Amino acid sequence: MHDNISVARQLLASRQEIVVFSHRNPDGDAIGSSVGLMHYLRDRGHGCTVIVPSNYPEFLQFLPEVDSIIIFDDDTERAQEAIRAATLFFLLDFNSFDRIDRMADNMINDDRPRIMIDHHLHPEPIADPVFSRPDRSSTCEMVYEFIDALGHADHVTKHVSDSLYTGILTDTGGFKYSTTPDLFRTVAKLLEAGTDAYKIADHVWNNLSEKQLRLLGHCLANRMELLPEYRTGIIYLNKQDYEDFDIQRGDTEGIVNYVLRMPDLMIAAFIHEQPTIVKLSLRSKGTMDVQQICREHFRGGGHRNAAGGASFAPLGTTINRFKKHLPKYADEIEAAYLEFNNQ
Ligand code: 5GP
Ligand code: MN
Repeated sequence: MHDNISVARQLLASRQEIVVFSHRNPDGDAIGSSVGLMHYLRDRGHGCTVIVPSNYPEFLQFLPEVDSIIIFDDDTERAQEAIRAATLFFLLDFNSFDRIDRMADNMINDDRPRIMIDHHLHPEPIADPVFSRPDRSSTCEMVYEFIDALGHADHVTKHVSDSLYTGILTDTGGFKYSTTPDLFRTVAKLLEAGTDAYKIADHVWNNLSEKQLRLLGHCLANRMELLPEYRTGIIYLNKQDYEDFDIQRGDTEGIVNYVLRMPDLMIAAFIHEQPTIVKLSLRSKGTMDVQQICREHFRGGGHRNAAGGASFAPLGTTINRFKKHLPKYADEIEAAYLEFNNQ
């Protein structure tokens, strides 16, 4: 950590033209950490452009200058021009190039410096320095620690703190997951920098459309299957559902979590049909590791309690494959359940 910070400090000692990358389907943490770091870097006199592969959810529109982000899919030429002009890259909230798709083209052999700040498990050696802390709640928490380690805690403006607070709030599910004393100390600093926690909570949680609420009802009433013997619940959506409810990116955010509100269940799966693939989003409680399930069977990864993956098989086949794998994890599920309830 100490050496990494010295290298980063050295890289930032002279003016740089910086491109910040974050991952496909960016969430509150990806966008919050990128926009927060962007404001810090610009305030320090650097040039800074944030590029993400695909668009971000509407509810993040309130973040300061979030519309300066370039969406690679929509604006490829402008993104490529910024990438060409960059002298330094930051990789935020992801740790393997497959999370940024075509944005990573030619990056492997590119010798311009790259700094990774990320809290996912198993970072790949695609940057140097790599700041990797899977014990951290969010990349936003790590960006605050990064700025602090550079000796610039007093450069955290309201733009920076609003952005970082937002990602912390979303990645911890409103301070329900991954909270530590360190996190609350960091949050205290963000509030001291001027962030209004009540306002941000309103932006983050009270943002559903009628359509999304009705879709939630449909998922819970008609698309939920429980497998009590494996303490697992599945919610699935097919292409017809996507049409009927006019589901857009982000509309299904958070639905998977409802399954875990049943105290006997340890694993929640949201399995949904996309145009060319079937995506899986898994969630778990306690020591039950769903990252492992995604990595072993669905070309994915993530965190112990929140992971994702994909399948090229049809929806029904994918659901069956998922169910077929569960018996292998039965002992782990039961052990996690017992431990979770003995705490
Ligand atoms: P979500 O289920 O919300 O899409 O993702 C939950 C977590 O799993 C996120 O932290 C994300 O980084 C990770 N994740 C989701 N999909 C994938 C995937 O296809 N590959 C990998 N490596 N991680 C994923
Ligand atoms: Mn994150």
